[in-house]
Amino acid sequence: MALQLYDTRRRAVFPFTPRVSGQAGLYVCGPTVQGPPHVGHVRGAVAFDVLRRWLTLSGYEVTLVRNVTDVDDKIIENAAAEGVTPWALAERYTREFNRAYDVLGVLAPTVEPRATGHIPEMIAMIARLVDAGAAYPSAGSVWFSVGAFADYGALSGQRPDSVQASPEGDDGKRDPRDFALWKAYKPGEPSWDTPWGPGRPGWHLECSAMAAKYLGEGFDVHGGGLDLVFPHHENERAQTALTYGSGNAGGSAGTHEMAQHWLHGGMLTTRGEKMSKSVGNFFRVQDALDTVRPAELRFYLASGHYRSTQEYSGEALQEAAAGYQRLETFCRSVDVDVQLDEPSDEPPGVWDEFAEAMDDDLAVPRALAVIFSAVSTGNKAEGSERGAYVRVVRRMLAALGLDPVSQWPDPGSDLRPALDTAVAVALARRAQARQDKDYATSDLIRDQLAEGGIQVEDTAGGQRWRLG
Ligand SMILES: [Zn+2]
Repeated sequence: MALQLYDTRRRAVFPFTPRVSGQAGLYVCGPTVQGPPHVGHVRGAVAFDVLRRWLTLSGYEVTLVRNVTDVDDKIIENAAAEGVTPWALAERYTREFNRAYDVLGVLAPTVEPRATGHIPEMIAMIARLVDAGAAYPSAGSVWFSVGAFADYGALSGQRPDSVQASPEGDDGKRDPRDFALWKAYKPGEPSWDTPWGPGRPGWHLECSAMAAKYLGEGFDVHGGGLDLVFPHHENERAQTALTYGSGNAGGSAGTHEMAQHWLHGGMLTTRGEKMSKSVGNFFRVQDALDTVRPAELRFYLASGHYRSTQEYSGEALQEAAAGYQRLETFCRSVDVDVQLDEPSDEPPGVWDEFAEAMDDDLAVPRALAVIFSAVSTGNKAEGSERGAYVRVVRRMLAALGLDPVSQWPDPGSDLRPALDTAVAVALARRAQARQDKDYATSDLIRDQLAEGGIQVEDTAGGQRWRLG
């Protein structure tokens, strides 16, 4: 089976057939950098990272665009409250987001455009929409005329005549559904000059302009969280359709489709409610990393189906960490050479079953069941057979960005040989002391090692030690 992906617009799973054979163009809505990242933010980033890695493994050359929204109401508000410029605040949180992505093994996008770096592209887009009769300037702002796009509402499943009003203020707009392409200048706010007066861009327009610049007028996958379907993506789709499509202002449905697949990730909830800054039920990425390691947090975030709601709790996180440790122990039990892109002598069928799950709209829970079952079988095997299981398990985990050996090496592993030598010297002296019946010295060495976090145990087979 080749890759199939869900499409929100068509409400079903369809084969992934890129516009250009062998290439995949993805646009993922990035963060509005108004505060530090919480776990809900990075869940989506991990989900699209899994998709990106799977496309690459499937042989596609992937172009991933993930933007940064660095001008926005909340950025301006938060900066004013802190007494810093919006630029300084946006810069600080852009770095924090990128650190969180790095820590979680989310690969950097091919390009990470910032909204404020693409004002000329946005102005050009507005001009085309105004010329086409799909937008109008009014009271210093420029509004998109929702009535001009007959297919408006199709992405979010609303009938055109019963579409919700746009949440934006009605400063001069003709229809409550219309939304701002450009927002009139207000004192104290950042602004740019345009033929319609000074102001700043509307959020939806930013993404349409940046997606077109880096991926073309139409591309393969547009991703984001489920909370972006309406109004954000509905508006992006309408703007792009009327900028590049031919005259459907008269009522015919869109002639231009921005993205072939609209992929929306499920929400991360706490006590049943979407994790969000405004609700106040959020956990920062750092809060989670105080209790589990980065690979364990990634494992937790990747383990649900990307379209499902996932409930976040300390217990769920610990449970996931324990599951990952089982995989880790198995992967480290045999030292094997893993060729990630070429199957070698592996147990038959395991990789195929994994790939089938991944091809089925990224069914990661099913793919993980294949991994855990291979670990159970592999744990009973010995010698080269066990090695073969370790190899395939590591390959499957690597596809998810979770191979404990190559992608998440034990941070102390470089120091391990030195530690082994130092402890061996101490234990040899202790063995000699015991042989000499000098128990005071033997106990002293044991206690000194314990103080340094090295626990020594006397067993029938001699002295054993471990960290902890
Ligand atoms: Zn967007």
